[in-house]
Amino acid sequence: MSLPAKAKYVVIGAGVHGLSTAYHLAEKLEATGKGSGKDIVILDKTGIAAGASGIACGVIRNNYFQPAMRELMAECVSVWESDPKAFSYHPVGYMQISPEVMHENVGQIAKQQKDIGYDSVFIEGKADCTKYMKGLFDDWQAKGITSVLHEKKGGYANNRASMYGLAKKAEANGVQIVAPTKVTGFKFASNSTAVSAVETDRGTIECDFVVVGVGPWINQVWKMLDLPKTVDIKGRDGKVHKAVGMWTYWCLEEGTLGVDPKYGLMNDGKMGPVMHVDTDAPLHSDEDGSLITDKLWGIYYKPDFNFDGIQGGAMPYKVETPVDEVKIDPYGPDSPEFIVDANFAHMFTSALAFCQKRYSGQAHKWKHEPSGGLGCFTPDSFPVFDVFRDNVYVLADSNHGYKMIAVGKLAAGEIVSGTKSKLLEPFRISRFPEGKLHPVSNSPFPWS
Ligand SMILES: Cc1cc2nc3c(=O)[nH]c(=O)nc-3n(C[C@H](O)[C@H](O)[C@H](O)COP(=O)(O)OP(=O)(O)OC[C@H]3O[C@@H](n4cnc5c(N)ncnc54)[C@H](O)[C@@H]3O)c2cc1C
Repeated sequence: MSLPAKAKYVVIGAGVHGLSTAYHLAEKLEATGKGSGKDIVILDKTGIAAGASGIACGVIRNNYFQPAMRELMAECVSVWESDPKAFSYHPVGYMQISPEVMHENVGQIAKQQKDIGYDSVFIEGKADCTKYMKGLFDDWQAKGITSVLHEKKGGYANNRASMYGLAKKAEANGVQIVAPTKVTGFKFASNSTAVSAVETDRGTIECDFVVVGVGPWINQVWKMLDLPKTVDIKGRDGKVHKAVGMWTYWCLEEGTLGVDPKYGLMNDGKMGPVMHVDTDAPLHSDEDGSLITDKLWGIYYKPDFNFDGIQGGAMPYKVETPVDEVKIDPYGPDSPEFIVDANFAHMFTSALAFCQKRYSGQAHKWKHEPSGGLGCFTPDSFPVFDVFRDNVYVLADSNHGYKMIAVGKLAAGEIVSGTKSKLLEPFRISRFPEGKLHPVSNSPFPWS
């Protein structure tokens, strides 16, 4: 498809945020008589689902310690539920299984889920947790667990299939996806800070409004937009921390144990919820008994017919390379640098065996294929959803985002109506200088 010379709305990135925004924008323009999907062009340097959305584990949960994240996630789950078939969504639920150090935090989450009407069950105390878990999986054997939060909603979706589902909905509304087309820069208006055109490797496209949903490539596009590399942050201590770097990379470690996915089913033969287990009980190797860690650790996993095995991950690690030197391309499984290694496989398979007896002695079935990938994080590891330069909506989810399918819907609502969404307000960049930071939990993950 050729690149049009002009489009009212240019969306950069065909991942969850670009596609969801374009689809919902098309619907809202049509509904309000302000335009149609034909006013929207999506540009992607590779194609649909070429970024993080196409390799995500696909977990959809509400479990967040931050009230603003939880309210937003409840909205996201309702979008997933609106068309499970098109979004390849499996509503199996989600479990946060935790040690005593997280008990109070998770208890607050459970209470607030009740307040917002999000269906969940909270089990407390070692004996009751074991009984509850054995009721689902009779080989349950994880140690150090004193609370279980069982979210009855949420679950997971199949990464690429869901993105193609979204793209189909956008295209059915008249949106054009022009790929591969790489954005290389912007032209700025002479009388304002606004973007007047998007420059690409296939020519220039004039526009009125730009949406940026470029996931791990945000640092590159941020620079093209000439936005500040650092931000001042008023900390919880009331002190202003000057010139904190805007972006940081973390590497997500995920992979698959190549057993029949049915091997992971519950006592009743049904698909179980997505499991997230954190504990401070020592983790020993399932192969040789050696100590892997005696610090707080965690994993998440699910039987998955798409990945063909028991798929999941563990805590990510921070990439220490200076942010401008991190090699994002080739991305995901094609990266020579940011994929999992034998240490991860050892840890993950031992952790599975720690949780459920059926996984003991199965490590040799690990799928030795490249998996995992980079995520780009903000200074507080929570999303920034905001308008910059008068007409550029940046959707930078700090790697929380495959599940955040409603963000595009809310952003589209703001673009069309001009009215701010209450759910998106806590994610503006002004929270940093104003010190309106999200609370921090005791979880070993930077995204809980
Ligand atoms: C291994 C892994 C597992 C994850 N698991 C989960 C999970 O289970 N649940 C969850 O909620 N989140 C998960 N995440 C996070 C989630 O995947 C991301 O937060 C989310 O997908 C980001 O969506 P996006 O639309 O912003 O970006 P992406 O999906 O990365 O899409 C960005 C697109 O922009 C394009 N692009 C980039 N630069 C340019 C340019 N200059 N010109 C044109 N196009 C460009 C890319 O080609 C890409 O297609 C995971 C992330 C990783 C890496």
